[in-house]
Amino acid sequence: MDFDEKRRILAERLRDELNLSEKVYNAIKKVPRHLFVPERYRTMAYVDTPLPIGYGQTISAPHMVAIMCELLDLREGERVLEIGTGCGYHAAVTAEIVGKRGLVVSVERIPELAEIAKRNLSALGYENVVVIVGDGSLGYEPMAPYDKIYVTASAPDIPKPLLEQLKIGGKMVIPIGETTQFLYVVERDNGVRKWSWGAVRFVPLYGKYGFRPLEE
Ligand code: SAM
Repeated sequence: MDFDEKRRILAERLRDELNLSEKVYNAIKKVPRHLFVPERYRTMAYVDTPLPIGYGQTISAPHMVAIMCELLDLREGERVLEIGTGCGYHAAVTAEIVGKRGLVVSVERIPELAEIAKRNLSALGYENVVVIVGDGSLGYEPMAPYDKIYVTASAPDIPKPLLEQLKIGGKMVIPIGETTQFLYVVERDNGVRKWSWGAVRFVPLYGKYGFRPLEE
């Protein structure tokens, strides 16, 4: 079975099990995850599991990427901030959904991973993704405000700058907690409302509003 066939089967299974919307299903079916993982893990690219991408980090499991996209209710043309680019896979899925009129700004603390992500994304023609090296716990003020924000590493709490950079009416999805982590959906309107989707497992967020200093 070739990669395209394996990806189609995975996307259909996720659509049926998670009741995915058409747009999230199409994005998972389209983005070639095998081109985002290190060569030695390629044969496992369409197993629904996180995989090592080097530097002690992982590519998120496809079901988690799909669930986060659904929780954010991503729409065409939106400006989205991702914290934790990794190898760029989740950013590519988001970019498929927001389309050419939309924009994904993604911040990664490890310069080598940011380079890999840039290479992966540009090889596949994703011109609507901007990768920035820096402390994503501070968000990325120069391109704020954002319609949607998501964080792919677990934080001690909602970083204040992320909340400030979210549009009124915007949504954020963020894992919170150290050993026990919950995935929160945060809605900013007149105030801030948040609810937990359930327990998850992410690598820790570093930086000013993270668990450890950025350079560690
Ligand atoms: N989004 C990725 C994907 O497509 O599968 C998964 C990313 S991985 C689970 C989490 C990433 O967050 C790691 O690459 C890690 O280096 C990054 N990270 C952790 N703390 C960060 C921070 N303060 N700023 C930016 N990136 C951070």
